[in-house]
Amino acid sequence: MTNYLYAALLFKPLVFLPSHSMKEEIKKEERSLNFLEEIIEQDLKSGKNKQIVTRFPPEPNGYLHIGHATSICLNFGLTKKYGGYTNLRFDDTNPVTEETEYVESIKDDVRWLGFEWKHELYASDYFGKLYEMAVTLIQKGLAYVDDSSSEEIAAQKGTPTHPGHRNKYAERSVEENLRLFAEMKAGKYTDGEKVLRAKIDMASPNMIMRDPLLYRIKHAHHHRTGSIWCIYPMYDMAHGQSDSIENITHSICTLEFVPHRELYDWCIEKLDIFPSRQYEFARRNMTYTVMSKRKLLQLVGDRHVTGWDDPRMPTITGMRRRGYTAASIREFCDRVGIAKRENMVDVGLLEFFVREDLNKLALRRMVIFDPLKIIITNFPDRTEWLPSENNPEDPNGGTREIPFSRELYIERDDFMEIPSKKYFRLAPGKMVRLKSAYIITCDVVLKDNDGKITEVHCSYIPESRSGQDESGIQVKGTLHWVSIPQAIPAELRLYDRLFKVEDPGSEAGDFKDYINPDSLQVIRTAWAEPALQQAVFEDRFQFIRKGYFCLDRDSSENRLIFNRTVGLKDSWKAPINKENG
Ligand code: ATP
Ligand code: MG
Repeated sequence: MTNYLYAALLFKPLVFLPSHSMKEEIKKEERSLNFLEEIIEQDLKSGKNKQIVTRFPPEPNGYLHIGHATSICLNFGLTKKYGGYTNLRFDDTNPVTEETEYVESIKDDVRWLGFEWKHELYASDYFGKLYEMAVTLIQKGLAYVDDSSSEEIAAQKGTPTHPGHRNKYAERSVEENLRLFAEMKAGKYTDGEKVLRAKIDMASPNMIMRDPLLYRIKHAHHHRTGSIWCIYPMYDMAHGQSDSIENITHSICTLEFVPHRELYDWCIEKLDIFPSRQYEFARRNMTYTVMSKRKLLQLVGDRHVTGWDDPRMPTITGMRRRGYTAASIREFCDRVGIAKRENMVDVGLLEFFVREDLNKLALRRMVIFDPLKIIITNFPDRTEWLPSENNPEDPNGGTREIPFSRELYIERDDFMEIPSKKYFRLAPGKMVRLKSAYIITCDVVLKDNDGKITEVHCSYIPESRSGQDESGIQVKGTLHWVSIPQAIPAELRLYDRLFKVEDPGSEAGDFKDYINPDSLQVIRTAWAEPALQQAVFEDRFQFIRKGYFCLDRDSSENRLIFNRTVGLKDSWKAPINKENG
């Protein structure tokens, strides 16, 4: 991690707002090892591990977001770098919230990000093995069946400063516990009637070690095991054990699991299974959005967005529809790196990497958002096809032919009847170059009865054609334009931040109160050059002088719709807070 980044990420609460030079720095600088890479290099050097095995363990209860992308890039990135492999393991131990739709979307998103897992696995495939492990703990006198209600269990737990106490159920014999646990499995009891608990230490300073729950009864249909099971393992009885079953060497999770590590290690020791090790890093938080699946689900459910793939969502599927590239997301995750302390990264940094990547590959096209009609009075009544580079950044990008004719559209705000001093665009008597075409002079302005400009008459300079200009005339402004007879109508969707505040989750009241009402602006007056009729979903475009765009899936053959992926420059300004003026 760069020094800048490190310094910026060190303190909380803090928003990381990189300046332009800082971004340049991030781009250039060789990234130094993160703390996990250091641990892994040690483990390989000492011979502790011969190969590295990691897993990405999503719960299939929602779509993946940019936080998950961080975890994916980290887990897959480490085994790519150090040899070994990564499993995709669905952590599907909660039958109530999980759905097959999510499983498919998760696989699709991981692949799209550019990663291939070694094995596709499901924690639910281990239900039999996990049950056996629980039986082993009972046999060792390390687990017991408790009939207490969840309120009683909570009350007996004590507080961080006061030890808890055991109840009479902890005294049950191994035989009785084995019988009761088998009966729990057989469906003899109702939800919540009994639980299985580990017998550890009711006075442990770590509350999680105070006889934690291992199994609960839940008579519910599971998306894979159907109604075979009515008892389900808790996180602590499933996650680490699944890691061990798969010989995971480095089990990477986020900081909220730090207190669980002691129990993770306890289970491995008592069950004498493969010694996976848990390591924690800080969750990825990003400004102007929310990340928890529960909140994202509310945005979808309450129709604040059109779906999980709404381009304003921080989901992978949303960013994908918006036109973000997988490479730019990977670069963002890798360059921002991981931290051991909670922090907040500015979404502008992600946009910076998106823009960087798009600049290299986007096809340049001309689109007029708000048209003003221009008549080139001295141009003959025909169409001239002019070559124009697809991408000046790409030597192999090639050219396309764009039509030029007597009737053109330019942007309404590229014309000013009474220009200010520094205005180098079109104005009466002034000259501008039309991109890849000719220099024109504005001669006459026509208006309707209300004084609105309806048409501007210009004349062109035949010797000034781009690429073979012999006019000797220098002009300061170059405008984009489209030829009216060949222009195709388009709808443009311009997106802004979904929230008005940096951290909606930490504001008073409901996070949804902070939704930006102007996060979507639709432009239905746009006209595009004809090459865009051939646009396909994978194409990335730079609409010259306007921003980066991609075709939206709502498009049809006679209705082109484009999403603005990101502007050309980092021009976004936080809405001004009323109290501050
Ligand atoms: P959420 O709170 O969004 O529902 P989760 O942690 O419950 O997230 P999981 O499906 O359990 O979601 O996460 C799968 C993996 O992705 C876990 O290893 C988890 O630690 C990691 N992960 C989830 N959110 C983030 C995040 N914001 N930053 C980094 N890693 C994350
Ligand atoms: Mg989770």
